[in-house]
Amino acid sequence: MTASSPLLDWQDGQPVSTRFGDVYFSRDSGLDETHHVFLAHNRLAERWAALPADGRFVLGETGFGTGLNVLCAWQLWRRCAPAGARLHVISTEKYPIPPEQLARALALWPELAEFSQALLAQYAALGPGWHRFSFDEGAVTLTLLVGDALDTLPQLDAASSAVDAWFLDGFAPARNPELWSPALFAQLARLSAPGASYATFTSAGVVKRGLAEAGFSVRRVAGFGSKRHMLCGELAAPPAPAWRAPWFAWPRHTGQRRALVLGGGIAGAAAAAALARRGWAVTLLEQKAALADGASGNAQGVLHTKLSPHLTPLTRLLLSGYAYSLRQLPRQLRAGEDWDACGIVQQSFDADEAQRHAGLAALGLPEALLRPVDAAQASALAGVALPHGGLWFAQGGWVHPPAWVRQLAATPGVTVCCGADIVALEHDGEQWQARAADGRQWQAPVVVAANAHQAGQFSQLAHLPIKPIRGQVSHAPATEASLALRAVVCGESYISPARHGRHCFGATFRFQAEQLAVTTEEHQENLDKLAALSPDVWRRLGGEALSAQALDGRSGWRATTPDYLPLVGPVADAAAFADVYPAPERCGPRQPGPDAPWLPGLYVSLAHGSRGLVTAPLAGELLAAMLNHEPAPLPQPLLDALHPNRFLWRAQKRRHAPGRA
Ligand code: SAM
Repeated sequence: MTASSPLLDWQDGQPVSTRFGDVYFSRDSGLDETHHVFLAHNRLAERWAALPADGRFVLGETGFGTGLNVLCAWQLWRRCAPAGARLHVISTEKYPIPPEQLARALALWPELAEFSQALLAQYAALGPGWHRFSFDEGAVTLTLLVGDALDTLPQLDAASSAVDAWFLDGFAPARNPELWSPALFAQLARLSAPGASYATFTSAGVVKRGLAEAGFSVRRVAGFGSKRHMLCGELAAPPAPAWRAPWFAWPRHTGQRRALVLGGGIAGAAAAAALARRGWAVTLLEQKAALADGASGNAQGVLHTKLSPHLTPLTRLLLSGYAYSLRQLPRQLRAGEDWDACGIVQQSFDADEAQRHAGLAALGLPEALLRPVDAAQASALAGVALPHGGLWFAQGGWVHPPAWVRQLAATPGVTVCCGADIVALEHDGEQWQARAADGRQWQAPVVVAANAHQAGQFSQLAHLPIKPIRGQVSHAPATEASLALRAVVCGESYISPARHGRHCFGATFRFQAEQLAVTTEEHQENLDKLAALSPDVWRRLGGEALSAQALDGRSGWRATTPDYLPLVGPVADAAAFADVYPAPERCGPRQPGPDAPWLPGLYVSLAHGSRGLVTAPLAGELLAAMLNHEPAPLPQPLLDALHPNRFLWRAQKRRHAPGRA
């Protein structure tokens, strides 16, 4: 049990919270209660039937619980909404129910079986942060904000997440008074679209007064079952939006839904697929003769998450991205062939690592996400002797990145052009022209540069501080004895269980390198690190008989930034930026400041480093969500931390720091 456990009891087959001393849904009939309270009193059936063919609707909920309300809403959406419309559900949950218990609760509703199974197929033990689910080929998305609603709702971007209807659940106000607070009602108002409705099972005075004070109309109507009354109403006019740093905005795209994506690795393929799933026509332009020929070309990549116990922005991104990738993989790739959730041991190989791991273990994250193991347990899990204990990531494993890239690029709506060596980007006032070295040209109103450090060759992106780092992996043929390795083992380097009769291990880091040829010296370095990582594995692979000269392998560039966070978002004109925001101390809430000098339609998904399998798929989803003006899959502070303008803004602040001439 951890600090975020829901503490469930089962009474007459129904879930009850012992933490709050309350039921998850009415004992009379949870299903009928949901239909009466939340669906009918938000008038969802009629509002959804009246949506235009390309309409969108945002539902917000306090208290995801068993997901019953959300599944009933999804079922109704299928029945009423036009085929091309999109439903976005944003729900909050402080104490996520573990998967086995969720399955037990949802088994109460056979009529929802299809929806429950789809949710359960993607639902794993959830760590803190935001979790994006997608159903019905992307027509229905769920963004589950794991954490206290009073912390998570303030991090939602009101512009893209404006909620059309609220389900106010979250246990009775008498049992959970902290939730039903003025701060919550203010957030509901801030995040509401004009005319947003709400419905709640309670008619408590504190709720009535709180909603009215936040500007909502309040109607008391007949409740469900033993409850005499419930509340519903609307918010005619939401409050004026609060100030937001204009340099971290995402300009709204209103033009044609056509994009060029530069770079056929995981970042480009993920962005292309996420846009195409939303009906965009995407051309994916790859310089090389085939997709996944750069950093995404390795035979086995690890779902690598080096987390910090301080839950830094990078750690929050990794937690959301890791869970997102793990949700996609089983649906997109063949298990055992193109990926394997074999688990990952991260060894505590020195005092710093041991301290970091102890800090992570003390956070109370779900054990299915990570748990501490000693050397004996780690060895048993890995199937080979390991010198150190560390952390066990049970859901993790390896991926064959080229298969994932090809699968994403095969999304209907994506046209792949390999051998397209784009050397210049120009905007003709309406759209971007991408010119290839051989003279061919492509046009579209939106360009997403996802070509790692090579993006720096375009004048518009030359200011982005992307550092290329060379890395080499080595391959060794599996032996009878090495086949015992059944989990990915990490430390100062890593090794994966065999795929197609060989193991992949490494990798090196070369900061000043200029060329990519595979070297014996770096194979030797990988072998030396392997011998330290697990002398047992090294022996099983041949030990001293393993010669660096005899190994084959692959090298590539990883791109990274000075703060190690990727660059994801819209791009501004760097030269004009300093003129638009000349004195940062004069830009702030009281001096709203002009819009940033955007390069209209130019976006990036870059610098995913060696963690692209974890960060790039979610970055693609983020770009596509923002380009379609949908709720973001990540909290606002993280969007700012990833924003390509952050380095321009920091440079501007440094230039004007006190003491500078
Ligand atoms: N809507 C749910 C369903 O369809 O199953 C039932 C919700 S249950 C009555 C209330 C939920 O609110 C619980 O899962 C509880 O953990 C969650 N909750 C309580 N306080 C919260 C808070 N401060 N922030 C986020 N979630 C909270």
